[in-house]
Amino acid sequence: MDKKKLWLEYLEQKNHEYIRLLESLDLAPDKQIHLTCPGCSLESLVILPKKCFSSPDFSITCPCGCGYYDSFAEFKPRLVALQESDNFKNMNVCHSCSVYYFVKGRVSNRPCCGIPNFRDIIASSVHVDLAKFNALAIADKRVFLEKELEYIISIFDGVMRSMNKFHIQNNLVLGVNGPPPIRSFQSVDKASSTLRNAGFPIDCFVDDWEKFSFLFQVRHLVVHSLGVIDEGFAVKTKTPPSKIGELVEIDIADILFMTKSCVDIVVDYYGYYLS
Ligand SMILES: [Zn+2]
Ligand SMILES: [Zn+2]
Repeated sequence: MDKKKLWLEYLEQKNHEYIRLLESLDLAPDKQIHLTCPGCSLESLVILPKKCFSSPDFSITCPCGCGYYDSFAEFKPRLVALQESDNFKNMNVCHSCSVYYFVKGRVSNRPCCGIPNFRDIIASSVHVDLAKFNALAIADKRVFLEKELEYIISIFDGVMRSMNKFHIQNNLVLGVNGPPPIRSFQSVDKASSTLRNAGFPIDCFVDDWEKFSFLFQVRHLVVHSLGVIDEGFAVKTKTPPSKIGELVEIDIADILFMTKSCVDIVVDYYGYYLS
């Protein structure tokens, strides 16, 4: 018998077992299934494809991103009405496996392939609309730049904190040394040196770390001091004291640099240490 035929028979057998397993749990493909994670207790929804997508024992990863992995039945699966998805704001799809899943938070994990969505969050959140910026009046441009800087850094902080937790959890499961917990990535120099000392540097993924770190100080000034240069900022950033009392400068180029740097760190760090 040729190999292709054997392979097709194997797949057919897998699909058969998959449908039988769903039926034994009173479930079906293309229907909305409610899950409760035994690990984190969070709820999620999945819509499964007609064809088997999973490992032979049909295990999945918690869609809420806690890292828990177990057989499907352990997630207390039950069919629910379509309108149930209104309670789950974050809809995702794995195009490789044709699995749809809904969670209530922002971080999610593909239940089928176990891939978390950190890269998707950063890429979709920190896109700068240049046309919109160029059409603004001068006074509005300043507000736009301040808000963008704040927003990019808070998204970066949130994504990196989630990645840090995930990284620690992964390494616990694998039984290898992981990174130390990082409370905040807003104090980016402190976070960076803690990670570097533990052997998980982030600074090497940015073209100009000094500029990157400086812009975190600028954001700090915007949030806490209306963007007016004070003594603390001048000392930390080696800004001439003659600038104290002036508005700190922010340029659209700074925002584009920040966007690129944050995406670079998340994507590269993910690639090196998490995937
Ligand atoms: Zn979970
Ligand atoms: Zn998948």
